[in-house]
Amino acid sequence: MIEAVYIHVPFCSHICNYCDFTKVFYNNGWAEQYLKMLQKEATPYADLRVNSVYLGGGTPSALNQQEFETLLLIARKFLKQNGEFTVEVNSESCDENKVKLMAKYQVNRVSIGVQTFNPEYLKLLGRKHSEEQVISLIKMLKEHGITNISADLMFGFPRETKKVLGQDLQKYLELGVEHISCYPLQIEEHTIFANQGIKALNDDKVYAMYEEINRVLAKAGYSRYEISNFAKNEHVSKHNLVYWHDQEYLGLGPGSSGYVAKVRYDNTKSIIAYNHGVTRINEHLIQGNEEEFEYIMLNLRLKSGIDFKDYQKRFNKVFLEVFSQKVKMLVGQNLMSYDDAHIYITEKGIYISNSIIAELTLNLDY
Ligand code: SF4
Repeated sequence: MIEAVYIHVPFCSHICNYCDFTKVFYNNGWAEQYLKMLQKEATPYADLRVNSVYLGGGTPSALNQQEFETLLLIARKFLKQNGEFTVEVNSESCDENKVKLMAKYQVNRVSIGVQTFNPEYLKLLGRKHSEEQVISLIKMLKEHGITNISADLMFGFPRETKKVLGQDLQKYLELGVEHISCYPLQIEEHTIFANQGIKALNDDKVYAMYEEINRVLAKAGYSRYEISNFAKNEHVSKHNLVYWHDQEYLGLGPGSSGYVAKVRYDNTKSIIAYNHGVTRINEHLIQGNEEEFEYIMLNLRLKSGIDFKDYQKRFNKVFLEVFSQKVKMLVGQNLMSYDDAHIYITEKGIYISNSIIAELTLNLDY
């Protein structure tokens, strides 16, 4: 059953140096074609209603006012009453008129691409916003009733120290947002950074920074509910929970992925191809042990881990019986722990979760 809808909006008002998302410079002609194609791609799902709709990108707010309204109209049709409706925005392209539109179409969660407030790193990343723009956008959103706000934080910049990170974190705390997503800088192939030979910090330093983020955010009342995500007052991202609980979701737009009727698929990353009618380019049926592996891998990203009852319902097996030997070993090393209802990765294990999951699922053939 489809539980959520993700729509990729591939337009940006500038291109950042580290970015490997599907995106192009905003162009009015392409944006209009894209919206027509999006409407066409959405049509077979006209009766679908879900608890979460997410507009990501790219930068949805890079569209002009009229296009932004068309996008919100297409997206909102999927939303059940009281569902979570998230839009990613950048502060430099989201003015009060767009905030008003979001409020009008019941957007109730906004994710702001901040990354850092450090002027040196903003310049390095090629980001165009200022601290004042972010603060003023948050104020505007709150004035229009949108109080569930998330901000992205990036860390692990070249030469970044804990002290510099601490200054950035302090500014994030002052924003008073409900949710912070934290990701280390990664140098992806074919990005401007890769071409420039920019190097991220080494793993040990990145880990030390991740620990510092955990410490500072926990002290400020943010609880880490997933490896990279922290929320205050239970404001977890319901949309991302659909991914981490390994539930099905519809992906629309170029560069999106989806999971529908046990098929994982990718849409074309080419905006030109998409605008000419190309949607899915890869499809892969998930079955047997592969489904179980994905379920374990995704659920163990969550602090709450795997729900024993949910696992048994889905796979008709008892988790602690299937994985008894490995669980004993990993619990013995204080990398995993469990109670009556869940098994999860401990604080000690969280930063090496990939190795723990690989160890746990070693005997799952697929
Ligand atoms: S990081 Fe975001 S704003 Fe920057 S180019 Fe990529 S999608 Fe656009």
